[in-house]
Amino acid sequence: MSAKQLALVIDLNVCVGCHACVTSCKGWNSAGSAGPLTDQAPYGADPSGTFFNRVQTFEVGEFPNTETVHFPKSCLHCEDPPCVPVCPTGASYKRAEDGIVLVDYDKCIGCKYCSWACPYGAREIDEEQKVMKKCTLCVDRIYDAKLPERERKPACVLACPTGARLFGDIHDPDSQASRAIREQGGYALMPEWGTQPANHYLPRRKTGKALHADELERHDNPLKVDGRLPRPATGEPALDDVTSW
Ligand code: SF4
Ligand code: SF4
Ligand code: SF4
Repeated sequence: MSAKQLALVIDLNVCVGCHACVTSCKGWNSAGSAGPLTDQAPYGADPSGTFFNRVQTFEVGEFPNTETVHFPKSCLHCEDPPCVPVCPTGASYKRAEDGIVLVDYDKCIGCKYCSWACPYGAREIDEEQKVMKKCTLCVDRIYDAKLPERERKPACVLACPTGARLFGDIHDPDSQASRAIREQGGYALMPEWGTQPANHYLPRRKTGKALHADELERHDNPLKVDGRLPRPATGEPALDDVTSW
């Protein structure tokens, strides 16, 4: 176990699923080859790309008692990472000094063993460079002495507009990350795998809500109104006529 273990702590109660962390992560770590377009086939039927961080959105519960959960997921920097020992070239490794799990792109042969070993689906192959990639905890930002100290944080943490992402050393009991885990019931994903993920999640708090029957269906829903939707008659001014684009 490393003396220091850097990690993200993500507050599911606060995350609104805006994807700012996704785009800032992409911008900092793996954008550039196609500007604002997807990495591969931007105009094709199946555009795709490599992301170190994705936000998955789920609807949980049964109607009408459902809620939407936004779930950001990146490499969890496991303390006992199964992706490391399976790597045949030693490209995947865990740093002793801060617990960050990284891939040495010069050694990676793109065999994908590590992505099969990771129970969290956190690794993605870079189809252009043919190497495996994943969250680096922005190792190239957090130690960059040229950046002002307040900016030496992961790009996703800096970008999150709601402050849902905390970053720190979870082996330091006084860090903001450790305090949040301790005081707000932080939990690790799928502990039964024994991987000891360093990243933790803060649970959504339950709030009571009363739903009235007339709130369950919009009776004025225009899609349910018989007949044609209102349209301007021919010759009447339309938006294009009165607005300067
Ligand atoms: Fe490895 Fe997956 Fe754990 Fe990241 S989340 S350290 S890729 S096993
Ligand atoms: Fe190692 Fe690369 Fe193969 Fe993963 S894909 S196991 S990092 S050589
Ligand atoms: Fe992406 Fe860096 Fe955040 Fe990891 S820590 S998800 S690499 S922005």
